[in-house]
Amino acid sequence: MPGGVSSPVRAFKSVGGQPIVFDRVKGPYAWDVDGNRYIDYVGSWGPAICGHAHPDVTSALQEALEKGTSFGAPCELENQLAEMVINAVPSIEMVRFVNSGTEACMAVLRLMRAFTGRDKVIKFEGCYHGHADMFLVKAGSGVATLGLPDSPGVPRSTTANTLTAPYNDLEAVKELFAENPDAISGVILEPVVGNAGFITPEPGFLEGLRELTKENGALLVFDEVMTGFRISYGGAQARFGVTPDLTTMGKVIGGGLPVGAYGGKSEIMSMVAPAGPMYQAGTLSGNPLAMTAGIKTLELLQQEGTYERLEATTKRLINGIIEIAKENGLSITGSSISAMFGFYLCEGPVRNFEEAKATDTERFGKLHKAMLEKGVYLAPSAFEAGFTSLAHTDADIDATLKAFRESFSAIA
Ligand SMILES: *Cc1c(COP(=O)(O)O)cnc(C)c1O
Repeated sequence: MPGGVSSPVRAFKSVGGQPIVFDRVKGPYAWDVDGNRYIDYVGSWGPAICGHAHPDVTSALQEALEKGTSFGAPCELENQLAEMVINAVPSIEMVRFVNSGTEACMAVLRLMRAFTGRDKVIKFEGCYHGHADMFLVKAGSGVATLGLPDSPGVPRSTTANTLTAPYNDLEAVKELFAENPDAISGVILEPVVGNAGFITPEPGFLEGLRELTKENGALLVFDEVMTGFRISYGGAQARFGVTPDLTTMGKVIGGGLPVGAYGGKSEIMSMVAPAGPMYQAGTLSGNPLAMTAGIKTLELLQQEGTYERLEATTKRLINGIIEIAKENGLSITGSSISAMFGFYLCEGPVRNFEEAKATDTERFGKLHKAMLEKGVYLAPSAFEAGFTSLAHTDADIDATLKAFRESFSAIA
């Protein structure tokens, strides 16, 4: 396998050393093939918000397994999950399930073009929208970590329609609209950025994009593959009160199985085949196993106090990390929202990818290694957000902060 991994973000290229090979996961923990236990803050890159292998999810999966793994025909479970997503996410009136976040973003881009009859799209530097050609421009963590400015194999003619702006910079977006009249189908962004470390939208940024897109007859698309059902039950759009036209989802809605989705206003989604002419299909899309894991995960998230608990756990962790780093005389800036957090080893604020690059990646590599040795698994990149789950207890956070205390003092 290239680099020994099935996805580049799993490699340890940017932090040094070899990737850890996992044997099993449960709750907030992962065990490697040598039997070492880690407190896990990657959570399969987002899906494990209820903790790994939650018994309600695994037992529902066992039951679903008996009825078959794929129908290639409609199933009731799709309708159930669709209803849950529509009820939860303000912008979604109609939804199509796919098998990954990448697929959702590819499809949403086609839909943006089909609906507006325009070919260009605006994305932000450091935002990742999967690995489709059109989006592999200034695409954040995975690409940035490996130091690839772009990717070979992506035709210039394809990315010619991709315009980029710095995150949190409304003026730059305004200029792009002015320079490309009636040519821009829409603006796509991570409403909270998790693929360039952790960057939050400044007050007015999301609202400004909503206005600008409306004024220019373009669509606003939130890529909530990472933030959906994590920043709040209704995603970042519910938390920030800004409703896009279209939304992509993935990670949490699959509860650890491969699922993606895109949805939005019925008027726009009715363009999708067979309701409309925009073609998009999938042999395993909406399969009963994936739908079951998604439904059970969302049911668990609906329990009283879920997001308050996630918020409190994550705040305690990030506040602790920042305090300990400062005690050791290290530059640090960091924050959290709900069950997502991140820090940079530099002075803040970090409002965009350019500012994020000030983080001390060499020191982060040392920190990463020290934390691993103390049984804490952080994402192997200085440009990834961290994820907490309902399974992380106060004792897990205490143990993590103890490991940070020892590690920061060792690398200071
Ligand atoms: C992970 C991610 C994707 C891609 O999803 P995959 O399931 O890995 O294809 C797209 N957008 C965002 C914001 C993501 O975090």
